[in-house]
Amino acid sequence: MPFWKRAEQLGLTLPSELCKNNPKFFEGTQCQKLSGTVLLQSVLNQCRQLAEGRFADKARPHLAVILPGNNPASEVYVSHKQKRFAEAGFASTLHHLPESECTPEVLGKLIDTLNRDPDVHGVLLQLPLPGNQDATSLLDRISPIKDVDGFHVRNTGCLASGRYDGLLPCTPFGIMALLQAYGISLMGENVTVVGRSNIVGKPTALMALNARASVTVVHKASREVFEHTRQADVLVAAAGVRHLIVPDSVKEGAVVVDVGIHRDENGKLAGDVHPDVRSKARAITPVPGGVGPMTIAMLCVNTALACWASNTDLAQRQV
Ligand code: NAD
Repeated sequence: MPFWKRAEQLGLTLPSELCKNNPKFFEGTQCQKLSGTVLLQSVLNQCRQLAEGRFADKARPHLAVILPGNNPASEVYVSHKQKRFAEAGFASTLHHLPESECTPEVLGKLIDTLNRDPDVHGVLLQLPLPGNQDATSLLDRISPIKDVDGFHVRNTGCLASGRYDGLLPCTPFGIMALLQAYGISLMGENVTVVGRSNIVGKPTALMALNARASVTVVHKASREVFEHTRQADVLVAAAGVRHLIVPDSVKEGAVVVDVGIHRDENGKLAGDVHPDVRSKARAITPVPGGVGPMTIAMLCVNTALACWASNTDLAQRQV
């Protein structure tokens, strides 16, 4: 599992026994619940051990989060990340900029400052930017070795060429870790990814391809979306459309990864996959408690990797 190799070198393991030996099922069904919460807890515990062990006499992994403007959803996401970092024993600092200061110049200068700061190991620009500004040039301005979201073109290039020496985007990284932990191999399987975004769909497809799956990507402009989803042994739903995937969209016995997050008027969370799919699928990630916690877990892993790379680099420079 090359995608996990660097984490393994740091001493991090995927708790496969925990996941495989203690299967949980959706109530009243034979459909296994692929819980990301269980894995997140294991990763946080291991990170805490790293903070108190391997990193104890060095700089503690430190994430700097830039929160542009006053997007309520972004504020919630950022506070979840900070809470989890505290549980991992890692440091995080918040740079919350008022909307009036969210210009490319101000944000760019802040990124430059954080890139230069030796005490900061990871830099994360929380998206979206106010006014739907394009973030591409700012994401590329983050140093690739501090790019813990894995969006820098150098890191996406590493992924596209099947190299695992860069940092991986957290959600696809989390999906792969989750499948691996539950013993679901992608080799030779038909994987269909619904959605082609740079954040989720495209990198997930690349990771599945690197894992030697036969990969199909469908999106808004695709004809016959469900013809393709019905062929999938493993279906990744990342369209951002509530309950897009219904029982008729999936093959009997498929594994379904539900990336979508939607909140209804009562605050209840739902995914891209309709609950009735549980009657047909072999396993599904729940919403909440599936891919979401894995995304935060991989942010911790990436920050630990970035910190370790910078410690190693410092140690080498001191020799
Ligand atoms: P996005 O809007 O950038 O991309 C959506 C993609 O789905 C596009 O490529 C679009 O063409 C495709 N699509 C839309 N409607 C479709 C349809 N009817 N049929 C086929 N394809 C369709 O969204 P994103 O950033 O990739 O996020 C997707 C979903 O995942 C959202 O609900 C988002 O909130 C969620 N998300 C969750 C996590 C997590 O940690 N769980 C992380 C990121 C995103």
